[in-house]
Amino acid sequence: MPLSPRPFVDQLAVYEPGRPLEEVARAFGFADVSSLLKLASNENLLGPSPRALDAMRASAAKMHLYPDGGCHYLRQDLAARLDVHPGCLVFGAGSNEIIEFLGHVFLGPGTNLVMASQAFLVYRLVAAAFEADVVDVPMRDHAHDLDAMRRAITPATRLVFVANPNNPTGTMVDSAALNAFLDALPDHVLAVVDEAYIELVDPALQPELVSRVRAGRNIILLRTFSKAHGLAGLRIGYGIAPARIVAWLEKFRQPFNVCAMAQDAALAALADGEHLRRTRDLVREGLAFFEAGFRRLGLEFTPSTANFILVKTGRGREVFQRMQKLGIIVRPVDAYGLPDHIRITTGTPAQNEACLRALEQVLRERGGA
Ligand SMILES: *Cc1c(COP(=O)(O)O)cnc(C)c1O
Repeated sequence: MPLSPRPFVDQLAVYEPGRPLEEVARAFGFADVSSLLKLASNENLLGPSPRALDAMRASAAKMHLYPDGGCHYLRQDLAARLDVHPGCLVFGAGSNEIIEFLGHVFLGPGTNLVMASQAFLVYRLVAAAFEADVVDVPMRDHAHDLDAMRRAITPATRLVFVANPNNPTGTMVDSAALNAFLDALPDHVLAVVDEAYIELVDPALQPELVSRVRAGRNIILLRTFSKAHGLAGLRIGYGIAPARIVAWLEKFRQPFNVCAMAQDAALAALADGEHLRRTRDLVREGLAFFEAGFRRLGLEFTPSTANFILVKTGRGREVFQRMQKLGIIVRPVDAYGLPDHIRITTGTPAQNEACLRALEQVLRERGGA
C-alpha cells in the first residue's frame, strides 16, 4: 500500500507565503532587491530597535548553545511590566505558535471555534489542522460584530477569537464593548484576544484586559514582537493567561521553541520605549498619508488602527500583480473573502509615496478596461 496521510490532510489549505524578494526581482527583471519595496506583511519598516540589534550581535557569539527553554529573563521582565505572575506567560516562535498550542489543548473533531469572517486567517488554518469546525460570523463595516459572535457560540465552542486590532481590516473594538462581550461569555469558552498590533494603538485607547488574567478568567491575550517591535524574522511572541491555562499550553511546547537571539532581542526591545514611540508616530503619519491619497483617488478604505490599511481598488489580485511589476509589493486579500481590496503596510514617507504613485499608475492604466 502506498504511503498516505490521514484522510483530512489532503483537504487542508496551505497558507500562501510571499515569494522571496530575490525571486520576485529576478522574475520581473529588476537589478536587485533594493529596487523592490515590500509593504505586504505588516512589518516595522523602521527595522528593529538599535538596542535589539546590539543584543543580537552579542547573542550571535553564543549560538552554539541551546536557548533557555523557560525564557527566564524575558519572563521576569514582562511579568513585572504587566504585573502578572511569571507563570501567567507562555512563549512561542511567534504568537502563531501559541495559536497552535491552543488547538492542541482545546480543539478536535466535534468542537468549534468562533471567529469573524475577515479575521486573521491562521485561526482557520489551526481549526482545520485539528479537524475542528469554524463558526464564521459576518463583520459589520469590517469590524467584529461582538453581539453576533456571542450568539454564535454553541455547546461545542471552545475558543472565540477577537483580533484587536484585526488583520486584515485594521479595525478595533473599543474597551467597553469588548469588556461587555467578555463578561457575557459562557464558562465553557476561552476568549482569545489577539493583540498583535496593540502596541501601535494610542495607550489611552488600549483595552485593559490583563486584570481579567489576574482574576483567573477564561482569557488569553496574544502578543508578538513581530509587528511594533520589528522582530518578525526572529519569531517570538507570547500569551498572557491564568496560570492553569498556561500549564495546559506548556504541555505542547517543545523545550527549545524560542531561539536565544529572539529572547535577547525581545528583552532589549522592551526597554526601548523611544523606538516604539517613533514607530507609532511613523505609522500614524503613514495612515494619514494613505487616507488623504485614497480620498483624492476616490477609493473607499477602512480607517485603520494598526500599521496597515485596507483599500478597495476593485480586482485586488490584479492590482497586486500590476503593482508588483512596478516594484511595489502589497497584499492581495482574496483569501479573506475580499477580492476587491488590497492591504498596504505603512512604511517611511518616501516608501508610502512610492506605493501610492504605483497604485495611482496602475489604476490609471487600468482605467478604461
Ligand atoms: C502578524 C499577526 C500575528 C502574529 O504573528 P507572529 O509573527 O507569529 O507573532 C498574530 N495575529 C495577527 C492578527 C497578526 O496580524
